[in-house]
Amino acid sequence: MKAEKKTTGEQLADKLLSNHKHAGLLLEDEEIKTAFEFCEDYKSYLDTAKTERESVIETVRLAQAAGFKEFVRGKKYKAGEKFYFVNRGKAVILGVMGKLPLDSGIRLAAAHIDSPRLDLKQNPLYEDMEFALFKTHYYGGIKKYQWAAIPLSLHGVVIKADGEAVTVNIGEDDNDPIFCVTDLLPHLAQQQMKRTPAELIKGEELNLLIGSMPFKDDKVSKKVKLNIMSMLNEKYGIVEDDFMSAELEIVPQFKARDLGFDRSMIGAYGQDDSSCAYTALKAILDTKKPQHTCLTCLTDKEETGSDGNTGLNSSYLAYFIDDLARAYGLCGHNVISASECLSADVNSGVDPTFSDVTENMNASKLNYGVVATKFTGARGKSGTSDASAEFVGRVRKLFDENGVIWQTGELGKVDLGGGGTVAQFIANLDMDVIDVGVPVLCMHAPLEVTAKLDIYMAYKAFTVFFKD
Ligand code: MN
Ligand code: MN
Repeated sequence: MKAEKKTTGEQLADKLLSNHKHAGLLLEDEEIKTAFEFCEDYKSYLDTAKTERESVIETVRLAQAAGFKEFVRGKKYKAGEKFYFVNRGKAVILGVMGKLPLDSGIRLAAAHIDSPRLDLKQNPLYEDMEFALFKTHYYGGIKKYQWAAIPLSLHGVVIKADGEAVTVNIGEDDNDPIFCVTDLLPHLAQQQMKRTPAELIKGEELNLLIGSMPFKDDKVSKKVKLNIMSMLNEKYGIVEDDFMSAELEIVPQFKARDLGFDRSMIGAYGQDDSSCAYTALKAILDTKKPQHTCLTCLTDKEETGSDGNTGLNSSYLAYFIDDLARAYGLCGHNVISASECLSADVNSGVDPTFSDVTENMNASKLNYGVVATKFTGARGKSGTSDASAEFVGRVRKLFDENGVIWQTGELGKVDLGGGGTVAQFIANLDMDVIDVGVPVLCMHAPLEVTAKLDIYMAYKAFTVFFKD
């Protein structure tokens, strides 16, 4: 049958009107297959790197395997040489030296490797009604009720009185025990259910259940607590006061899994922002002899506002770039001012069940590719760097010319809430920056949902940015 000729209106609509489609309709089967395969290693990364410290360790392992060497201050790197710099075990910068001089600008991708969780307090261990428990303090923006009655694991480091560091990771191995925060049975929750949702589980009710067997000795009073401390002492050589100099983090125990009959999505903890951290990491690992020097910065402390010496509101990134610049007799701030950054962070995807919180012409959608978010913040665009039209235009052209499926996004309806990323802190250094990342459902919940095609498009976006 002869194809009917398009009407003038149809032709005009094709030419003038925006027509974004599901990436599954735009991509060839071959590329969809590649994208799904790409996500197999991503899932392994999610299971291995649930905390910022574990992410740094895994990143360094992958970097070394790809030929990256520890950064040497003052060294003049040749084009194509690869280096990494670890900041206090909780943030890491990876670099590939470019052919062009540094003051022609760096291409930077910055993602965060901390995720919302429960931290142990500094004096956490107690016994109540012959149970042993840990007191916690939540980290980042969580709905506290989501963290009760789910399997949890314990990760982190304890610094003993003599300075020795002990690494802890319990709950991830199938033979390990798990832990949980308890919740009330519905039968007896009449009063609890009258609380406001923010208080359904209160901050001081986020207590981690860790034991129930007594130490057999009539002379001691807190037998279950003593029994747990005795076991911890046997396994790690620690005493109760060692918790004071510890960072122990409680995260969901379950592993990353395919989600949906069609396996098109991934359900896992920490995809804000591991989905962007992993893709920005893979992109730098795969970068060979770029024009501009390329950096991937995987940072800590984004979820608590980026303050602290491992967060991007500190000077560590600027100092690092200055160190790089000085080896060539250049000034760090000249390099920074000429540089460009993709702030690699997730955005909230439209949720069909809660679509009333998003303005669906401007919100990002799962499976519509990587999201470029011009501004974040709250109310009248406060707390955002708001990328310039020129820089958005530059990124748009780059993605369009290189087959990166991308979309625009915003964080919810005007005046409904808001949030920020590291973009503003990088922009404040005098760098061009825009948020580019993966749309997510259930952001900050123990199980976050992403689409595989978007993950792959994020990787592609960072890759073409580094190549440019
Ligand atoms: Mn984030
Ligand atoms: Mn977040």
